Amino acid sequence: MTNILDALIVGAGISGLSLAHNLQKQTGERPELKILVTESQDRVGGNITTVKQGEFLWEEGPNSFAPGKDLLQLAVEVGLEKEFVFGDRKLPRYVYWKGQLIPVPMSPPALIKTNLLSLPGKFRALFGALGFVPPAMGAQLSEQGGEETVSQFFRRHLGQEVMQRLVEPFVSGVYAGDPNRLSAAAAFARVARMSDTGGGLLAGAVTSRQKQPKVKEIIDPRVPQTKTGELGSFKQGLEALPKAIAAQLGEAIELKWSLVSLQPTENRTYIAEFATPEGPQQIETRSVALTTPAYITAELLKSWQPEISNELKAIPYPPVACVVLAYPLSSFKVNLKGFGNLIPRREGIQTLGTIWASSLFPGRVPQGWQTLTSFIGGATNPELGNYDEDKIVETVHQDISRILLGPNPPSPKVLAVHLWQKAIPQYNLGHPEILERIDRGLKSTPGLYLCSNYMDGVALGDCVRRGRERSQEITQYLQQSRSS
Ligand SMILES: Cc1cc2nc3c(=O)[nH]c(=O)nc-3n(C[C@H](O)[C@H](O)[C@H](O)COP(=O)(O)OP(=O)(O)OC[C@H]3O[C@@H](n4cnc5c(N)ncnc54)[C@H](O)[C@@H]3O)c2cc1C
Repeated sequence: MTNILDALIVGAGISGLSLAHNLQKQTGERPELKILVTESQDRVGGNITTVKQGEFLWEEGPNSFAPGKDLLQLAVEVGLEKEFVFGDRKLPRYVYWKGQLIPVPMSPPALIKTNLLSLPGKFRALFGALGFVPPAMGAQLSEQGGEETVSQFFRRHLGQEVMQRLVEPFVSGVYAGDPNRLSAAAAFARVARMSDTGGGLLAGAVTSRQKQPKVKEIIDPRVPQTKTGELGSFKQGLEALPKAIAAQLGEAIELKWSLVSLQPTENRTYIAEFATPEGPQQIETRSVALTTPAYITAELLKSWQPEISNELKAIPYPPVACVVLAYPLSSFKVNLKGFGNLIPRREGIQTLGTIWASSLFPGRVPQGWQTLTSFIGGATNPELGNYDEDKIVETVHQDISRILLGPNPPSPKVLAVHLWQKAIPQYNLGHPEILERIDRGLKSTPGLYLCSNYMDGVALGDCVRRGRERSQEITQYLQQSRSS
């Protein structure tokens, strides 16, 4: 019995590492818990990919995190409290609209003044926010099982202009998604819930604030105080976080261990088989958490959980390329004080958006240079997955030249072209039902847990929060199964 693990965590992306860290924390209180994290690559972090080359430091996956309490707490627990960096929250975010960079209005006065929306567009948004909203109905909606797309939801609540000029670029920035396919209830769960009051989004926001439990939280004094709108990273880039968690996990992580098969046994345990550099390895465990992407998890469960497997297979992951280019500061026609720019699809530009990376987190370039991190592809342009690197760079360079560079722009210094063939899971129409059916299926497989970014939030903070929640469920399960 002593060789049986209590918890096997497959995948050392941020989801798996957060889960393992929280389990290990609890293990400290119950030394008998035995856990193992296995990762198929030779590094931890999954999507989180920081690269340092000379004085350049850049990200090829996520670029920053919204400083929520779970992520900040995790970072201080693994010793990163002096490593945080936060972008200036006052830096404007821009939308490229009709050939101009226009700051995104971040406050009610800015919303009144902005020239991103016309006067009728502003009135439409205001009346909608106050609750003058047409009901959701129509033949199309019935065909969609009553579920609204992001575009239907925001058009109905705030009007076409807000949808096209603010929400759609935002959707590109977070999901690289298509608002005509994303489910409002899944992709904008909190906002969609605000509309449930029937009094408009403004009243919904107030009600949801009032409903928040007024418990006084015990805040770890090491956790930095942050303000809404700030974005965070670490001095050495985002990869500092997975590396620090892994360092604490120590021997509880096996790299280059790829899970190839998982089967339940009659003794309420699971047998996991791995391909490793030392040859095949077999592990028996009381519980398993699969933090692998949906399409990989689907393959692992196919033979004994075909229904769950089919649900997982239905979640699309379109390709996205992250292109990091550096230009001399002298080549720009715009003031680069800002977070970056997003581009509504109607502008006819392929690049989804560009983070002005070295403006957001200064000190990551040699003097006189600027790095720009652009994203291209996504659900509205999946053909990108077939482009070669030169074509991707040329397309992004042309787009940047049009928006940001002066006449006769120089060729960029190409720091990275990272094509994520399967980048971000799309919470399309039907996603909430997919998750419900998966949940129901999991009831017949006690001890098996899924924990990944296709579940309820793709942001790094969501992955960290979900990892903590799943660790509590696993501990509870192990306690109950021991006492029964
Ligand atoms: C291009 C891009 C930009 C993004 N930008 C942001 C951003 O700026 N801010 C933000 O908050 N979020 C961003 N995200 C989203 C965020 O990065 C992800 O949601 C998050 O990193 C996912 O973490 P994860 O651990 O769930 O999955 P992953 O990072 O995919 O980790 C899963 C791990 O499982 C491993 N694995 C797979 N198969 C096996 C196997 N058979 N055996 C063992 N291990 C296996 C993989 O190698 C991987 O390490 C971005 C994502 C992408 C792709």
